[in-house]
Amino acid sequence: MISITELHKQFQHLHVLKGISLNVDKGKVIVIIGPSGSGKTTLLRCLNALEIPTSGTVRIGEVKLDFSQKVERSQLPLLRKQTGMVFQNYNLFPHMTALENVMEGPVTVKKESKEKARAKASTLLAKVGLGDKLDHYPAQLSGGQQQRVGIARALAMDPQVMLFDEPTSALDPELVGEVLKVMKELALEGMTMVVVTHEMGFAREVADEVIFMDQGVVVEQGSPEQLFTQPREERTRQFLQHLK
Ligand code: ADP
Repeated sequence: MISITELHKQFQHLHVLKGISLNVDKGKVIVIIGPSGSGKTTLLRCLNALEIPTSGTVRIGEVKLDFSQKVERSQLPLLRKQTGMVFQNYNLFPHMTALENVMEGPVTVKKESKEKARAKASTLLAKVGLGDKLDHYPAQLSGGQQQRVGIARALAMDPQVMLFDEPTSALDPELVGEVLKVMKELALEGMTMVVVTHEMGFAREVADEVIFMDQGVVVEQGSPEQLFTQPREERTRQFLQHLK
């Protein structure tokens, strides 16, 4: 479903991604861990062309872009359409209700009728446990509820792949579980997911594979069992030690 080869990203002189290669099969959940500044967010943003890679290829489903060649701006939305992104700070439109937030993409980007978009949005909001909050504005919702709207909004675009960028790290501890629960349900339904998170419990329980990144490279990759209990690399071991 996802194939990345030799992906590099530089911000002026800062070389943030240094040749990342990665494959994710359909229906798999990949969790990316690593120290702050190791390039995890940048990698996710390159996957949906919120950042333009300096070189390398990204393929998601049928769409493949080779950034080592010149990529036309008009091609970027093709990649973006394949992915749904969930952000750390929810990024909801504050002046729109939960329902309107979820309808917005289908209506403006996919040109769906309002009627169809509204029906889909209310189904998705019910699915994330917010069927009784359709007309609430973000300010009237808890962080956990806002993030669940964020997930429904991403799903409304019918993505092939869901990308989660530290989806629970802005939440009060007691609200983390409700968001992880929705993510786990999605995983069980067979959604292909790439998740940057510090929630090791989620990684152990839900991930098919865990990737440890440091300084712009994939240091180690393996099953949660293998990576957490028998890391091969010293850097991984040190990072995990630090978390305890
Ligand atoms: P992580 O998600 O692992 O914490 P990031 O991908 O956010 O790491 O950041 C990796 C490095 O890239 C950091 O040094 C960060 O400051 C830098 N960086 C990220 N985005 C930009 C940008 N738009 N311009 C310049 N530097 C950036």
